[in-house]
Amino acid sequence: MVTTRRQSGAVLRPTAKAAASPSSPSKAKGTDKSKSSASTTHYEFMGPPGALGIILGLPLVCYGLVFLCNEDTCLSLDALPTTFPDPPKNMPLFSIEACFVFSAWMGYCVLLHLLLPGTMKKGTMLPDGTRLTYKLNGMSVLLVTILLTGVGIHTETLDLQWVHANFLALLTAGVGFAFLFSFVLYFGSFTTTKKGKQKILAKGGDTGNYLYDFFIGRELNPRIGNMFDLKVFCELTPGLIGWLLLDLGFAHAQFKKTGSISVAMSLVCAFQALYVFDALYFEPAILTTMDVTTDGFGFMLAFGDLVWVPFTYSLQARYILEQGVELELMHIIIIIAIKVIGYSIFRGSNGQKNAFRTDPDSPSVAHLKFLKTKRGTRLIINGWWGICRHVNYLGDWLMAWAWCLPCGFGNVIPYFYVVYFGVLLFHRDLRDGEQCEIKYGEDWKKYCATVKYRLIPGVY
Ligand code: NDP
Repeated sequence: MVTTRRQSGAVLRPTAKAAASPSSPSKAKGTDKSKSSASTTHYEFMGPPGALGIILGLPLVCYGLVFLCNEDTCLSLDALPTTFPDPPKNMPLFSIEACFVFSAWMGYCVLLHLLLPGTMKKGTMLPDGTRLTYKLNGMSVLLVTILLTGVGIHTETLDLQWVHANFLALLTAGVGFAFLFSFVLYFGSFTTTKKGKQKILAKGGDTGNYLYDFFIGRELNPRIGNMFDLKVFCELTPGLIGWLLLDLGFAHAQFKKTGSISVAMSLVCAFQALYVFDALYFEPAILTTMDVTTDGFGFMLAFGDLVWVPFTYSLQARYILEQGVELELMHIIIIIAIKVIGYSIFRGSNGQKNAFRTDPDSPSVAHLKFLKTKRGTRLIINGWWGICRHVNYLGDWLMAWAWCLPCGFGNVIPYFYVVYFGVLLFHRDLRDGEQCEIKYGEDWKKYCATVKYRLIPGVY
């Protein structure tokens, strides 16, 4: 077993005492403390104006997708709306009941996370030389939830189709929760730990600009007590499982409405369920992702995990319920083929990197060639990772197509996901490339000269 020493982009804030010391640069120069003690001035997402645009824009997109395409209407490219469209008639925008259900869902996830046993895994090395221990039990929470949902539907004590009629009100509850939670995270990042130590901040989220830091996330690993890691919990549990429940709710509503579940609905639900199962089966892999090692926990991830993922990723199942889609056999075969190819690339590449980084001598990866870096880690240069630098993103994007194609070609709205996700992965590849260049320096340049393409072999 080889353990690798990784450095995240995080920064350990100087202690309060050090910051106040006469020799501290900020005090000596008499400058604004929040700015002078910031650990970076580097902005992503077009800086504070971009951050503001995304903070305001993301909720609008979530609502816009429902307003533009619902049971009453669905956007046609021939007749584009000139004003922001009206909400659907039978979907309230807000209800106390939905706020209660959303809060109860969050509470339920927290309770199960605390009560169910989990595997204990160490995270990557932090800037202070320590490593956090994470309790991972998302898969157990998922299995218990599916069992309870199945029993609830079978005994008719749970009316899962309720999520469709109350989708907008649930969305409003989620948006409100995400904003409140992001404020708590932001202000919490200025407090000290029980031992009086300063919190470890994410380098990218410690610019001193309040709006930008609120968006990117200031604190690297906000926790309640020693073990409840808020970021990893939100990344894996309420949003992902909530997304699956929304899909199942739409399938349930279709069954109640038509007496059966269509092939299109079955494909979307099965594909997306596989994605959620995969993420939770390989749960420990989250600990080495950029989200956990480098990004702070702020609005970007909180909104993404709790609102964006469940409410926009379930678009295809909602569309199929509301618009009804029939698929030809050839169409079904092509969709399944794309899913199988996409999943094989996605799982093969992610699994190969994970296996190699865990134990490079294991028979499944011992044949791989690699570039030994000055930083101590090894970059694989053949196998999946010799095809292009983010072949895993390519597989993920192909799967995105397989989720959208069951919606047929009657409307562009359900293809929102494939476009948005393409942009996200393209941007994420650039961000990861920048981070790797900082981490690896010359070694990264050598790696890029060997593995020339970024996302699509022979093209880009
Ligand atoms: P990766 O799993 O690609 O991890 C990138 C890191 O891997 C790099 O920073 C580097 O870190 C290491 N690495 C890069 N190249 C090599 C190599 N050749 N050999 C060994 N290690 C290498 O990125 P993500 O965390 O972004 O994505 C993980 C998965 O999550 C992907 O499949 C992605 O598609 C998916 N994803 C899905 C999203 C969704 O909303 N559905 C959103 C975001 C991601 P180091 O060397 O420091 O270990």
